Amino acid sequence: DSAPSPCRRAVLPPHTGHKKVLVTGGAGFIGSNVAELLLARGDSVVVVDEMNDYYDVRIKEANLTRLRKLCPGDRLSIYRGDICDEESMLSVFEKERPGWVCHMAARAGVRPSIQDPFVYIHSNIRGTTHLMELSHKFGVKNFVFASSSSVYGGSKSTFFSEEENVDNPVSPYAASKKACELLAYTYHHLYKLNVTGLRFFTVYGPRGRPDMAPFKFIDRVSRGLELQQFGDGSSSRDYTYIGDIVDGILRAIDRPYPYEVFNLGKGNGTSLKEFIRIVEKHVGKKAIIKLMPDQPGDVPYTCADVSKAYELLGYRAKVSFDEGIRKTVDWYMHEYGKSICVEPETQANGMGRAAS
Ligand code: NAD
Repeated sequence: DSAPSPCRRAVLPPHTGHKKVLVTGGAGFIGSNVAELLLARGDSVVVVDEMNDYYDVRIKEANLTRLRKLCPGDRLSIYRGDICDEESMLSVFEKERPGWVCHMAARAGVRPSIQDPFVYIHSNIRGTTHLMELSHKFGVKNFVFASSSSVYGGSKSTFFSEEENVDNPVSPYAASKKACELLAYTYHHLYKLNVTGLRFFTVYGPRGRPDMAPFKFIDRVSRGLELQQFGDGSSSRDYTYIGDIVDGILRAIDRPYPYEVFNLGKGNGTSLKEFIRIVEKHVGKKAIIKLMPDQPGDVPYTCADVSKAYELLGYRAKVSFDEGIRKTVDWYMHEYGKSICVEPETQANGMGRAAS
């Protein structure tokens, strides 16, 4: 696979010796990118992923194939399984004894969580609790996990700092992420487990999720298909390039704190109208837009205050939205330009205010 890696140009945090890192959800978008960079800098990676069909599983298989090619030796182990499966996960910990956990596995997506909340409670809350339980029992040095900007859902402000009250999640997905943050605090309090939660702000880039707006939008504009636009186009999101997110995750892995939550975003928003213009520019086609009403559970504005992540982790996003979309369009054309549709026509094909 000669497609460029989105992470190669990320500025690496100082590497503090060899680590064995359990990456849950390591076949997914963010997890596979983290695993790739960990392997590239010499760490060992244990991937656990249930390979669910939330989106086309061939994408996840391709992500694992890429990891295997990158690291054919003994620094990579891959397990297929549910993080909630107590026996299997216990045997993974017994066999692998990871010193670090990077917990990216979750059921993602706001709108589907309203249709089927129980799967979110299972994977996200039960799964995270189970991993923290094993992590404290096996003496894990640092437990880093994916939270989400969606926890800010019911907030009145538009520039979100970690100080903000996040007691008003507006979807089961957001509530599940908030629950993970609460449980993380509990594990830190009870067992002194070092835990860091990372609130990602809409992540996009090469190998991005096909259910998310940036991929869908590029896909549909390039194929000349109609795009459903939820809301009036004034909504604005903080879109974060995958290379920047992975850089932030690695910084969090390398710098354990007793308990912290960080925003990882770009630090400024892009309106839907501007987004359309940038995609049209890089795809080289006009979008065909169908206007749709707002969706329940969606968050109108997201913008990360990233000053805490800068101060404590040295994190700063470097890739502008224009540059990130150009890279994503280049990747899309390389991978899908000639043929395919990974997204069934029956799914909602819109973009709007959904956080993930
Ligand atoms: P993804 O769906 O591509 O990756 C998640 C992976 O976890 C998938 O491969 C899936 O098969 C696996 N998984 C799910 N439930 C599992 C279970 N019970 N056991 C084992 N594996 C399981 O999603 P992503 O975009 O890479 O997201 C990674 C993390 O970041 C998630 O926790 C997500 O909630 C969070 N997040 C993502 C975004 C974003 O914009 N992509 C934004 C905020 C938060």
